[in-house]
Amino acid sequence: MQNRLICLFIGMCVYGIVSGQEICGFDKLHQEALKTDAAYRKRIEEQKQIIKSQILKKKSSRTLAPSAVLYTIPVVVHVIHTGGAIGTAYNPSDAQIQNTINDLNAIYSGTKAGTEGVGDLEIRFVLATRDLLCNVSSGITRTNGSVIPNYVSNGVNVNLTGGAAQLTVKNLIRWDPAKYYNIWVVNEIDNHDGTIGGSFIGGFAYLPGAPSTLDGTVILASQMQVNRKTLPHELGHALGLYHPFQDGTTATCPTNADCLNDGDEICDTDPVTQPSTGVCRTGVNSCTGTNYHINTEHNYMNYTNCSTLFTADQKARMLAVTGGQYRVSLTQSWAISASYPLSPFVAPAAASCTPLTSATGLANNFAGLISFNLAGRRIISGTSMADGGYVDGSSNCMNLIQLVRGQTYNFQMQPLSVNYEQLRGWIDYNNNNSFDNTTEGFYYGDNIGPPNVMNLTVSNTLTVPLTAQTNTVLRLRVTEELSTAYNAAFSINSACYNPVYGQAEDFPVIINDHTVLPVYYSFFSASAHQADVVLRWKTVDEKNVSFFIIERASIGNEFKEIRRVHPRGNASDYSINDTDPGEGNWYYRIRQVDHDGKLSYSEVKVVQVKSANIKIITNPFDTKISIRLQKTLTKKAFFRLISADGKLVFQQQIRPDKQSVIHLDLENKSLLPGLYFLSCRIGDELWTEKLIHR
Ligand SMILES: [Zn+2]
Repeated sequence: MQNRLICLFIGMCVYGIVSGQEICGFDKLHQEALKTDAAYRKRIEEQKQIIKSQILKKKSSRTLAPSAVLYTIPVVVHVIHTGGAIGTAYNPSDAQIQNTINDLNAIYSGTKAGTEGVGDLEIRFVLATRDLLCNVSSGITRTNGSVIPNYVSNGVNVNLTGGAAQLTVKNLIRWDPAKYYNIWVVNEIDNHDGTIGGSFIGGFAYLPGAPSTLDGTVILASQMQVNRKTLPHELGHALGLYHPFQDGTTATCPTNADCLNDGDEICDTDPVTQPSTGVCRTGVNSCTGTNYHINTEHNYMNYTNCSTLFTADQKARMLAVTGGQYRVSLTQSWAISASYPLSPFVAPAAASCTPLTSATGLANNFAGLISFNLAGRRIISGTSMADGGYVDGSSNCMNLIQLVRGQTYNFQMQPLSVNYEQLRGWIDYNNNNSFDNTTEGFYYGDNIGPPNVMNLTVSNTLTVPLTAQTNTVLRLRVTEELSTAYNAAFSINSACYNPVYGQAEDFPVIINDHTVLPVYYSFFSASAHQADVVLRWKTVDEKNVSFFIIERASIGNEFKEIRRVHPRGNASDYSINDTDPGEGNWYYRIRQVDHDGKLSYSEVKVVQVKSANIKIITNPFDTKISIRLQKTLTKKAFFRLISADGKLVFQQQIRPDKQSVIHLDLENKSLLPGLYFLSCRIGDELWTEKLIHR
């Protein structure tokens, strides 16, 4: 208790010294980028729609178990000092940086003393333990910024122009923003180092989808400390949050007619004006006519000095964004992986041919491979024009994709989709530096479309041949081009094809062997039953099996454990129920773990789970069937009850109303006891469920 009091006291002192208001450069830079960068504007608008639909979906389905760490994000802290020794004001020590990251995690886990609001955000940050060459790293770099004109005297520009442009500072040092979240610690912003009082900018960050040259957080060295709100605030922006006063000013209220669309796009924060001082407001909020709520006034995303919370809706948004297309690669990075499969990494030998994009393609943003995702590694790149055509990513150790002989993997490829596209992929399994279409091709698709669909993605599986060379880094190539529908000459007939508009990209792959024979499954199925998924399998030979792990993944994400099952002996039947995973396509596989620690995987099954809207309450039923609706009907529902011998014995239409339970009255139907099938059609969604009449 005593410690806690001292802690609070120091905390208050710190805020007391810096009288005035710490603000953030996010708004100005975000607005600038929206105005000047059409691609950024489009990405922000697209993401808004995606986040909205994900949040709505999440609300209608399950909530996660509390205290689960869902996402860990590797960070690299670049100290841009002015020549001072480590431990001086503008060159904070490793310990100070580590303590600040610890404090950040205390805030994001809801364990910091005084935390209010939603508590655990299920997101953590770790200083990278591996550098760009996959060598062991502290996750902290130090660069003398005095080489940049005016940096020492004025720091970085946001509103004033006397210092260095942020891009010049970031260009000094940046680690691959798809693998690390970059944090630059600077001496001053707009000639203010944050220690002399008054209003100052403590830092700034960009939303996901920002140009990769700008993405990351810039923070004053004076704010890279325990009990400062700048870092948790800026990382809030980095994970998709706006200020609660977004689209308002100090004098005008933001619109909030539709809380998911307007202002901060968060529903459990009231619209407020921008605070003109750091004082937390109480009394009547002129934007609502009700009293100010702590959800805005104590919010880390506000400009007040009493930050203690993020809200539940902010958390939902951050989780949706972190698992989304611009941030998920961070959570899958080798940057914080404890085990890297190679030391040192040896890139594959040069390929027999290098596909080069034509000058026309390089001059136009018409095509290109945007992302490639296989075995939990998501590699993000740009268009042909942005990347300069061919990208040899095979020498980048951070791109390493690890596969196992004989195993099947799902992969996703995302082309730029302003036209109909063509994609082809190979892995040089025999390591002869060329690619054979028949034995080494893993995908070919033409007329991929339609164009201008958000995140158009090709999804398929590949199986690693048992003859693949193991324990050597092999080359994987993906070539992207416009569809042959535009011109037959565009055909990607070989891995040496030189794209006109598209591009080829190479990645490194390592294939491991596993000598243990997997359990033979004589049967493995996964099927949707209303909102749940039922998995059934039967084994042939189970000797040496320690346990089975059932894993589930959504498209583009890593498999995660959902259940462990102990073996019951040869030829056993297994059945488990995955309750309400949520709407969408889900991938399932069984990971078998042997007593000696070896792993093997079943094939992957994909299941589509439709609306979790309907649940039968009465099964078995007597004289009525009661059905619970999770959300209000928006269309008519047609119910049909069919007997085991196929006769329609009852049907009823239900009109959309505000009802949450529907009763089908069968009092006068004098049905025989036994098995029945109830089918329900709502719009184009149809499901059938077995029922017992007693
Ligand atoms: Zn901000």
